[in-house]
Amino acid sequence: MADRHVDVLLIGGGLAAANCARWLREEGFEGSVTLVGREPDPPYNRPPCSKAYLTGKDTREDAYFRPNEWWEEQSVELLTKTSVMRLDLEDRVAGLSTQEEVSFDRALLATGANVRLLRVEGTGLDGIHYLRALGNADAIRADAQPGRRAVIVGGSYIATEVAASLTVLGVECTLLMQEDVVHERSFGATAGGHFQRVLEEHGVTIHGGDGLAGFEGADGRVSRVVSEGGLVLDCDLVVMGTGAVPDTMLAKRAGLELGERGGVRCSARLETSVAGVFCAGDMCEYDSPIHGGPMRIEHWDVAFNQGRTAALNILGRGVDHDVVPYFFSDLADWASLEYVGPAFGWDSEEVLGSLDDGEFAVRYLRDGRLAACLSVGRSDDLEAAREELAARAGGAG
Ligand SMILES: Cc1cc2nc3c(=O)[nH]c(=O)nc-3n(C[C@H](O)[C@H](O)[C@H](O)COP(=O)(O)OP(=O)(O)OC[C@H]3O[C@@H](n4cnc5c(N)ncnc54)[C@H](O)[C@@H]3O)c2cc1C
Repeated sequence: MADRHVDVLLIGGGLAAANCARWLREEGFEGSVTLVGREPDPPYNRPPCSKAYLTGKDTREDAYFRPNEWWEEQSVELLTKTSVMRLDLEDRVAGLSTQEEVSFDRALLATGANVRLLRVEGTGLDGIHYLRALGNADAIRADAQPGRRAVIVGGSYIATEVAASLTVLGVECTLLMQEDVVHERSFGATAGGHFQRVLEEHGVTIHGGDGLAGFEGADGRVSRVVSEGGLVLDCDLVVMGTGAVPDTMLAKRAGLELGERGGVRCSARLETSVAGVFCAGDMCEYDSPIHGGPMRIEHWDVAFNQGRTAALNILGRGVDHDVVPYFFSDLADWASLEYVGPAFGWDSEEVLGSLDDGEFAVRYLRDGRLAACLSVGRSDDLEAAREELAARAGGAG
């Protein structure tokens, strides 16, 4: 017997769940809604954690999805510092870390992702940071005193953004990555080469084509990063930008079907293998009408838009999630990129504009057809690509 009942239970205190709550109310839903989130903060945007919040330009409240009073105004019950520990999908009951049992009619699972932890020698030393939450950004900033030396491990957007932000704070930054050039895996060497030049011009030292072997330290604190290729990099702190892993633990234990891309398998309407239970955000692997197959994407805009689609389908509207995925990344105020796609893979690239002038678009093609597009300052090209991808799926884009 549950302690109480809610009409809609939103599990996970991130952007996807928050935007779902918002859209339930925007669409006129008057039933009870409870959002359960593990973190101490109310739902917030993670992108500032490696950008303006890390440099101290934005406050904590600037990052919040909505001001604190909004939740009460919307009659959405917000439970922070609370985890859903068990989910019985037959009886539709959730067991919370507060020992309360809550029954529900419909639910959204939006448990996001966790950082990918690398187990190497010296991993327990102080001064080694991972970055997912506001609290991690606080710890990095406290360590990032001007004149210190940071090694950032990774070559993708979190690593490059952190390198830029810490450089702005006066920290001497060195990047160590497996890729030959930054962003190579997501955007290829042509666009990646541009962002690598921007970083180097601002003083970031980059070691590509090499992996992390381990850490060495003195008095329990990291003082050196050792690479597989034999580099020894002196440092005062380390930030790991080595990716994320979808958090499917609760879903798995509840018996939900998982997909081939590491997420929880959902229909195009974001419904899981159990009717009335939906997913959104980083852990949602959905049948994408845009890609013509299962897709899972860890982007802010995708979590945001899937939160809305999930809300509409919780209300029985029967809409497919046919929004073209969009991504952005900023290297301090040195360079910004926008991207629509993403591609499963591409076999050729078409560059529009000029890499030398720092205003260009890359169109990624597979079998001669557009698969994705990246833009630096060429929004018209990005928009044209978005429309082309949306039209192919018959989606709204
Ligand atoms: C530092 C950083 C910078 C980023 N920058 C960009 C960017 O520039 N552009 C971009 O497109 N994307 C960016 N992203 C990615 C983007 O922020 C994510 O895709 C987005 O936050 C995913 O939202 P989500 O709601 O799916 O998951 P999350 O934001 O991970 O939220 C899930 C929440 O659920 C909670 N939770 C998990 N399990 C339970 C449980 N059992 N009970 C209760 N709560 C639970 C978690 O603690 C977490 O708070 C960035 C991410 C990070 C970490």
